[in-house]
Amino acid sequence: MRPLQAEIRLDYLRYNYQTLKNIHGNKLLAVIKANAYGHGAVRCAHALADLADGFAVAALEEAVELRESGIGNPIVLLEGVFDVAEYAHIDKYKLWPAVGNQWQLEGLVHHEWRNPVTVWLKMDSGMHRAGFFPHNYAAAYTALRQCKHVADIVKFSHFACADEPENGMTEMQVEAFDLGCEGLVGEESLANSPAVLNVPEAYRDWGRVGLALYGVSPFGSTDERLKPVMRLTSRVFGERVLQPHSPIGYGATFYTSKSTRVGLIACGYADGYPRRASTGSPVAIEGKRSRVIGRVSMDMMTVELDAAQEGLGCEVELWGDTVNINEVAEAAGTIAYEILCNVKRAKFTYYE
Ligand SMILES: *Cc1c(COP(=O)(O)O)cnc(C)c1O
Repeated sequence: MRPLQAEIRLDYLRYNYQTLKNIHGNKLLAVIKANAYGHGAVRCAHALADLADGFAVAALEEAVELRESGIGNPIVLLEGVFDVAEYAHIDKYKLWPAVGNQWQLEGLVHHEWRNPVTVWLKMDSGMHRAGFFPHNYAAAYTALRQCKHVADIVKFSHFACADEPENGMTEMQVEAFDLGCEGLVGEESLANSPAVLNVPEAYRDWGRVGLALYGVSPFGSTDERLKPVMRLTSRVFGERVLQPHSPIGYGATFYTSKSTRVGLIACGYADGYPRRASTGSPVAIEGKRSRVIGRVSMDMMTVELDAAQEGLGCEVELWGDTVNINEVAEAAGTIAYEILCNVKRAKFTYYE
């Protein structure tokens, strides 16, 4: 069998949830959209079910999968519905939709609800992607309040730049949010992962954590408070010694400068390893750091083997305990979020 493995440490997931909840205080949504950032949404939800105040996903389909697997916790649909016909399913599965514009609001108010519904009313406090402008927010709130099926309204907004500690935009968004909410009673939610880790003014009734829950710092660094949930490993299945001045891989982009032992690894861009992270991207061979040399191909990549190390059969960590996924993201010119969501074809193994 192909040796590419994604180890998912569910004990670390629980640890991170507890840690983040302690930092934020109050309630915390575990954001498990996009198949739990590539970790497996159903498995992650069940691992957190007895701890989590609620879950958050991007769409009805993701929520239904969780409900049908037996998850009874609150589930927020962060983007709300894409079609008003979805409100019937939201009603049936007792989900909590976000409402971020007029057509979603009108569809909700006109739906014949059988159960009371909790609505997450989104404000555009400055990201300018979705949500009601602050000056229209009270009107939307009032329209929902007048709907007798609406049980609770959670006021919320999302930050554009909370992962940039020096960026003043977050503070401005908090101010805009508080102004737009003036006089409106009920719970509030502002903090995503970077804000839970770094912006106490954003701590409200609910935090919403995704990336940090999986043990990855949203600041592109390491965070001693978190434990990486995913460890992606493969094995060396080929080995050769190349003379100096030998090219390796597609495009012959890398030439050895000295006699070099090269290990061939079963992992490529079809597995979600970023092709942009070619020569220089870190790996760990039996716990010892080394690097990718040459271009990453579809199913394989090549790494430099230290003369002292064994070759064939050695374990290679692509990221996890020794290599931080943020290093791979930096080598690829992207962010850890994107890399995690792309992992596929690996054998997933879950550890309690
Ligand atoms: C995805 C998402 C989050 C989680 O963001 P992280 O940076 O991964 O913590 C929080 N809130 C909303 C509205 C989201 O879409």
